[in-house]
Amino acid sequence: MKTFDYTRVSDVDDALAALREPGTQLLAGGTELVNWLKEGIESPTRVVDIGGLPLADVEVTQTGLRIGALARMSDVAAHPAVLANYPVLARSLLLAASAQLRNMATIGGNLLQRTRCPYFRADTALPCNKRVPGSGCAARHGDTSAQAIFGWSEQCVATHPSDLAVALASLEATVVVLGEAGERRIPATEFHRLPGAEPARHTELRPDELILGVEVPAAGRSHYVKVRARASYEFAVVSAAAVVWLSGTTVEEARIALGGVAHRPWRLPEAEKALVGMDIRDRAGLLGAVAGAFGDARPLPDNEFKVVLAQRAAVRALQEAAE
Ligand code: FAD
Repeated sequence: MKTFDYTRVSDVDDALAALREPGTQLLAGGTELVNWLKEGIESPTRVVDIGGLPLADVEVTQTGLRIGALARMSDVAAHPAVLANYPVLARSLLLAASAQLRNMATIGGNLLQRTRCPYFRADTALPCNKRVPGSGCAARHGDTSAQAIFGWSEQCVATHPSDLAVALASLEATVVVLGEAGERRIPATEFHRLPGAEPARHTELRPDELILGVEVPAAGRSHYVKVRARASYEFAVVSAAAVVWLSGTTVEEARIALGGVAHRPWRLPEAEKALVGMDIRDRAGLLGAVAGAFGDARPLPDNEFKVVLAQRAAVRALQEAAE
């Protein structure tokens, strides 16, 4: 690990000034950044601790919730308004990482975590366009079981690992950021990028910008399903977040976001349209509507199984949201 300077800031202007210095990395909970330092994914010359900024509150607003970027995952998951009105959010947080990590990890840091693609995280130098742009993608013709089935490019087939990001996409939340050009509001569905020809750009956040928080509008009934290789302390193989509004048992509106299938949370707008008017108890009908939205799925040689798994996870999330 390279040596670096460490400083703490206590106001937002100082954090923004620090971001203008090349070679700076911000430290929130540190649960991702410290791994990057150890794995050689980042080698900053200066680490600026933003843990003392006043951005840790969870507030109930007239339109929903505002969650500060420095709120801890465990605090958000345990907040009474989150438990009562946003089960999809609470579950996405509680099913992530471990209790110890959730006590340290923040909402902003969670959104900025990077792929768990084994080639990106490898401790030997394998071609990876995210780590070394232009070096190639070892995963493209390697073990593709954990990789994307939607929206990948020849340059990168990785998936995004955040459970929270999937829940926020289904809730149509907004990420509020501040930089030199002022405040910007980025829809959660657009915050993470598809890899295209520039896989090293993970999100729409600019280098001079700080995440201030996330705004979440009022939601219908909701649920999060996470399918993983073991029952706890594991990233999703696939996941599904569902939000539904019902009249009796008839779907009035539905939203579905999938995780573990693309470089960003993957919404299913065609399925969402097809679900309107269906009976939420009609499992075969729901499955047909969801499967109909998989026309642009492009599974890789080892991950065809994700197609069926993601469809079933989506249906389970819809039906459990309704209960
Ligand atoms: P940090 O490590 O402090 O920061 C990460 C990055 O975000 C840094 O680049 C930092 O500069 C930047 N940053 C942080 N806050 C801001 C801000 N406000 N504005 C601008 N930049 C900022 N996640 C899941 O979703 N599901 C899982 O199942 C899961 N399992 C895990 C298992 C393990 C073993 C580990 C280590 C992590 C796991 N995670 C999982 C990821 C975990 O949730 C993240 O490590 C954590 O949320 C990152 O938050 P942090 O505050 O520690 O970020």
